[in-house]
Amino acid sequence: MRSIHDNLQAVRQRIDAAAKAAGRDPGEVVLLAVSKTHPAVLVEQARAAGQRSFGENYVQEALEKMDALAPGAVEWHLIGPLQSNKTRVVAARFDWVQSLDSEKVARRLSEQRPAGLAPLNVLLQVNVSGEASKNGVAPREVAALATAVRALRNLRLRGLMAIPEPGAGRARYRELRELYGRMKNEFGFDTLSIGMSDDMETAIAEGSTMVRVGTAIFGARQKVRPAA
Ligand SMILES: *Cc1c(COP(=O)(O)O)cnc(C)c1O
Repeated sequence: MRSIHDNLQAVRQRIDAAAKAAGRDPGEVVLLAVSKTHPAVLVEQARAAGQRSFGENYVQEALEKMDALAPGAVEWHLIGPLQSNKTRVVAARFDWVQSLDSEKVARRLSEQRPAGLAPLNVLLQVNVSGEASKNGVAPREVAALATAVRALRNLRLRGLMAIPEPGAGRARYRELRELYGRMKNEFGFDTLSIGMSDDMETAIAEGSTMVRVGTAIFGARQKVRPAA
């Protein structure tokens, strides 16, 4: 298997090529390395190769890796479902929550964000019709949730996240791009998080500003862990 360093370079080249093909500045697209199921030693290898942002789906698994790395060495994004009984530790330990889909969870995260930390960056997860994931808010409910979240002082609403199902047609991505475009100015969005190992080119062509890439960086996952 190729090294993490080489894989990161290859992914970065795919991002750059896709951005250029779409007439976009490659610097507009952030790479989030999705390290779920992979050990902290691989996260450390990616960090040493210059990767700064990491995504995890399960809170407990993420905490173990955070403890294994130097404090503040990297930025941690929660990209998996968040239940309200886990908000306190998430508010204390993560830099971003990309999977926000409820006002109740948003209120708890804001109340529980420790004083002295910067506001928690959040994305609203949108469930475009037919998405494989059952999580996320329906497109017609996103603006109302954004209005509520914007009012919370310890959260910083940055944009939208979505997980189009494998093989989703281009129209699904365009729907997200248009929703993001309609809300961007009003809410001050700067982040549209769509695209994974298999669909990053399509996502970037449709305006993604953050791709979440696991397999193409770390290789195949051994097994899927149960939802934490
Ligand atoms: C696992 C996961 C990814 C990464 O998927 P790959 O296909 O391995 O690149 C991205 N986003 C979310 C929400 C995930 O759960």
